[in-house]
Amino acid sequence: MINSLDLYIVVQNGRLLCLNGQQTLHTLPTLLDLGVIAAADQIDSHSLGQYNLQNLHLLPLLAEMGFEAVGAEGQWHWADLREFLALHTDDEFQYHARAVQYFHWLREHQFCGICGSATAMATTENALECKTCNKFWFPRIQPCIITLIHNKDKVLLAKHRRYTTNTYSCIAGFAESGENLEQTLMREVAEEVGVRVHNLRYFGSQAWPFPYQLMVGFFAEYLDGDIQVDQDEIVAAEWWSIHDLPDHPPSVSISGQLIEHYAANPKL
Ligand SMILES: [Zn+2]
Repeated sequence: MINSLDLYIVVQNGRLLCLNGQQTLHTLPTLLDLGVIAAADQIDSHSLGQYNLQNLHLLPLLAEMGFEAVGAEGQWHWADLREFLALHTDDEFQYHARAVQYFHWLREHQFCGICGSATAMATTENALECKTCNKFWFPRIQPCIITLIHNKDKVLLAKHRRYTTNTYSCIAGFAESGENLEQTLMREVAEEVGVRVHNLRYFGSQAWPFPYQLMVGFFAEYLDGDIQVDQDEIVAAEWWSIHDLPDHPPSVSISGQLIEHYAANPKL
């Protein structure tokens, strides 16, 4: 049941429609506000559950449906999901993150990958369904490991090629088909910095919607080997004292949490 006071997370090109200067969940557009978007009432919305007793929906403006050129006007603007990381509580960020992930999923699964028929939202599952082959296409999630390698009061941090600043961070990488996460971790560490680790300890996990990652964090104790940087994804890697850490990601990310947690609770 659509209510005119329901809240909408409007996503276009992976960006979110926001009121200028008020990037909070409480000022998301309602159906009444959506006059800014031509034909908004003709777009299928996707339920994201409830927030503060209000229904929350995703309104995806897919380029393929002719919405590429929608511009925000007046008090509205398009914001990048990364801008929400520092501004929101974890709960609020999760809704925005889920909306953007669903946007990418809806966009990439408009047609069945087997027979090419158009898909539609299933009624029994949170999935897109091909009625021709009875195949469900579920939202995509990519598991990744992220690990802090430690050796007493030192931690091994690496500078990633994609960073434009002098930031050092943990080792991370995607799980490959057939691997368990422990195997992924051992392989990624060996590939990226050339050392061996053991005594893995689970730390926690974080949905990282850029675009689909589920980051699974571990501490890993150094075993042996000299640092050998792969020079592909990693351009530098060094041992750092936990008392003199380099610039590293903030604690809003699991990478920052791993580093700061270990620095406060070292395994000496
Ligand atoms: Zn099909």
